[in-house]
Parts: sequence; C-alpha cells; structure tokens
Amino acid sequence: MVSRLRKTCINSKSSGFGRVLKALETTEVNSVEAQWSTDFAEAKSCLSESLYMSQQSLPVIIAGAGPVGMMAAAYLVRQGIPVTVLEKNSTLSMESRASTFHPSTLDLLDDLGFAKPLLTEGLVASTVQYTSTVHGELGRFNFSEIADLTRHPFRLQAEQFRLTRIILDALKHNPLFTIRFDSELTALTQDANGVTLTINDDTSPVTYRCDWLIGADGANSAVRRLQDIGFDGFTWPERLIVMTTSADIAAMRPGISSVSYWADPVRWHFLLRIVGAWRVMMPVPSEIADDVATNAEYVKASLASVLPDEAPVSHTTLYRVHQRVADNFRKGRTFLAGDAAHINNPLGGMGMNGGLHDALNLTARLSDVIQGKATEETLDGYDRQRRAVTMEAIQVGTIKNKRNLEAKTEEDQTAFRDEIRNAMSSLDSRRAFLRRIAMIDSLEHAATL
Ligand SMILES: Cc1cc2nc3c(=O)[nH]c(=O)nc-3n(C[C@H](O)[C@H](O)[C@H](O)COP(=O)(O)OP(=O)(O)OC[C@H]3O[C@@H](n4cnc5c(N)ncnc54)[C@H](O)[C@@H]3O)c2cc1C
Repeated sequence: MVSRLRKTCINSKSSGFGRVLKALETTEVNSVEAQWSTDFAEAKSCLSESLYMSQQSLPVIIAGAGPVGMMAAAYLVRQGIPVTVLEKNSTLSMESRASTFHPSTLDLLDDLGFAKPLLTEGLVASTVQYTSTVHGELGRFNFSEIADLTRHPFRLQAEQFRLTRIILDALKHNPLFTIRFDSELTALTQDANGVTLTINDDTSPVTYRCDWLIGADGANSAVRRLQDIGFDGFTWPERLIVMTTSADIAAMRPGISSVSYWADPVRWHFLLRIVGAWRVMMPVPSEIADDVATNAEYVKASLASVLPDEAPVSHTTLYRVHQRVADNFRKGRTFLAGDAAHINNPLGGMGMNGGLHDALNLTARLSDVIQGKATEETLDGYDRQRRAVTMEAIQVGTIKNKRNLEAKTEEDQTAFRDEIRNAMSSLDSRRAFLRRIAMIDSLEHAATL
C-alpha cells in the first residue's frame, strides 16, 4: 500500500503525504506525529484524487450514503480498507423515515462506537405493547427479560438521519474515507478484475474503476436495475401515512408504551415515540388520492379517528409500501444491501435494521477477501445468509405483523389475540417472542446457514 501511495503522491514533495513519508524515511517519529495531523486532509485528498485521476482501481466503492452505505463504509475503514462513497444528493438525507434501532443492531453499532452517540440522541423504549381497539391491551413485552442476550435490552427510538450524521462525523477526517456528493451512479459494467462506473456529478459524466461495488442505493437501486437483477414481490394496495405530532399522547392514553401497535379491521395503526414527538402511522385506502390524503383536513380527521384529543401535526409523509426481495444479493463483483436488496412494510421496524445487518455481514466478508484472509467463495455466503433471513424472517414477519393488525374476520382476530396471549403466558414464551422482534433470532440463524 505504502509503495502505491508513494507512486501516486511522493513525486509532489510539497504534498502532505510526501512530507509524511519523508519523515517516516528519516525515522523522525515526533515529526511524523506532528506532521500527520497537520497534513492529514491534504494527504487524503492527494491519495483519492491521484487514484481517481490515474484510473487505478479503488478497492471499494459504495453507491448511496444512507444508513446502510455509511455503516458499510465505517466497517471497511475500521479494517484499514479505503472506501469511496458516491451519493447522488448534495447532502445526507434529512427525511423522516425509519426511527427504530433494535437491540441486535445496537450491539453491532456499539462494536463500531456508534451506539453511545446515538443513545444520547434517542429515546429508550423498554417495552412493546399490542392492543386491540375492542379487547384492550393484549400484551406488553419488556426487553429487560432478555437482558442476558444483549447489551441493549431496549429499542432505541431515533430517526435514521441521526445515525448517518454520526457516522459521517466519525469518518470525515479519516484518510481512508472519501465521500462524493452530487455523484449519481448512472452506468456500470464489470469484468473479471473489477467494475467500471459512470457517475453524473454536478458538471459532467466521469468514470471510476473499483475492485468491488456495494449498491446501497435504496429501493430504486441503479446497481440492481442496471444489472437486470429481478426484484419480485408485491405492492400493498393501501399507502401508509406517517404523522408526527408534538401532542402528549402518553397523557391521552395513560400507560401507553413508547412502541404501541393497535389492531383494528379498519383503523389499525401504530404509535412510536421519538424525542419530543410521537409518530402515528396508519393506512390510507387506495381510493383516496395522494393530494387528498396529505391535506390538512384529511390528516386532522385521520388523527382524530385514533386519538381522543386534537393533536397538532408538524410533519406528514405518505408512502407506498412494497414487499420485494432481489433475486440475488451478489452479482460477480457487485453486491446489493439494504433497501436495494429488499423492501418491506414498517411493522416491526425490520427494513433499516435488516439493511444494517446486511452491511456488516457483507463488509466482514469483503474485508477478509481484500486482506487475503479468505477466498472469494466466502462472498457467496452473503447472499446465502442474508437473502434467506430476509425471506424467512423479515418478509414473513412484516407481512404477518400487518395482517395481524388489520385482521378482518373474527377467526383471524381471535388467532392474533391468542398468539399474543400465549406469547405472554410464560417467561420462556416471552423471551422467545422478544428474541424474534429484537432480530436476535434472525442474526443467529443467518450465521448457521
Ligand atoms: C418515505 C419513507 C418512509 C419510511 N418510513 C419507515 C419507517 O417508518 N420505519 C421503517 O422501519 N422503515 C421506514 N422506511 C424504510 C427505511 O427508511 C429504509 O429501510 C432505509 O432507509 C434503508 O436504508 P438504505 O441505506 O438501504 O437506503 P436509503 O436510506 O434509501 O439510502 C439510499 C441512498 O442512496 C442514494 N442514491 C440513490 N440512487 C443513487 C445513485 N444512483 N447513485 C448514488 N446514490 C444514490 C440516495 O440518495 C440515498 O441517500 C421508510 C422509507 C421511506 C421511503
């Protein structure tokens, strides 16, 4: 690596990297330390620009700076592998989207040093509650009952944009990390040795070459589409509306958990508390037009149908919900992770969490291959493990969660009530239920495949 850096940077004796290498050669250790910090940024820029301009292959490019792409970047950088992230937008997204981090994910984030800062920005939810609008509370599960299985026996309620910012802050001065905003991947080809990408940046198309490409570019993934990788599944007829309110719902519904699912054949909904607000999510029937569903009257009436008092709405998102999984999570030197590989309804909060589990499974394998500790066959295990648990746990689980809440027939409603009551009936059954919703089971199961 050093000789490659030398080649690209040492010729410029005035460059930051040149000065650092010179100091290293003359073993001026104190000088190296002092020099390193002052010349860090310049050396980094010299390295990435030189590799880029000379069309040498970058080790790993990640398309997409969402939570999954940023997590993948963080792990690779931690392993000493240079990473370039290409993001089509000019900043990280601030959209109000996923807002739940499960215990299993928090443990993984903790290993990279991100759980603690996220905890300071989020709200700890120790319990998850299931209620029927007709029969009252069906069950309340407390994560403290699996405190022996996780370092984080709770769900952390924090919006996903908090994580991407925390990771960017941690990486931005690292010489191994480069992020290019306004860089949309628009074309790609691959051969036996690498992947060639075309990026439309803010001026003109430019070409990159990398050894490995991770497509973490969301549900409409260009990495997936450009390679004709199928994305089978279905789209639910109803859309979901997410309404954020500063109303004190805990006062309106005394005893409510910070994560609360309500079963009802028409007005099923769920409530998630975040710092300073609640998010209320419910279905919008297919016959209601988008502009009607998001107008103030409709939003007010929707909230009034599930809350006893009026609640001011600060933010509304209406979105179409799909259940789809890519035909393969690996194609040669390219990989799909997160929403690029699978999308699902938000009941259970498994989409982003599953994507973060993908990111770590993939990058652990990729770094072993890049560092010569494993052969390329190990990369096939990524598709084998993550696609299987996506199909078996995430797709099946989220579809079941939705069908339970919206159950229309007496038979289906009774089956759901019985399921929750049975799960509540003993410590063993509560622990089994908690292991599943905390996504501990799916992580452990993946490792056995
Ligand atoms: C409106 C909405 C609301 C949601 N609400 C919830 C919720 O309440 N609960 C829940 O669990 N989940 C929710 N989700 C799903 C959740 O947000 C995703 O599972 C999560 O964002 C997945 O992360 P990701 O990094 O895979 O993809 P994304 O977060 O989508 O990130 C992909 C990134 O790639 C960039 N990109 C796209 N194309 C290119 C390209 N060609 N070149 C370069 N960059 C590109 C995008 O700009 C983006 O920054 C919601 C999704 C949406 C769309």
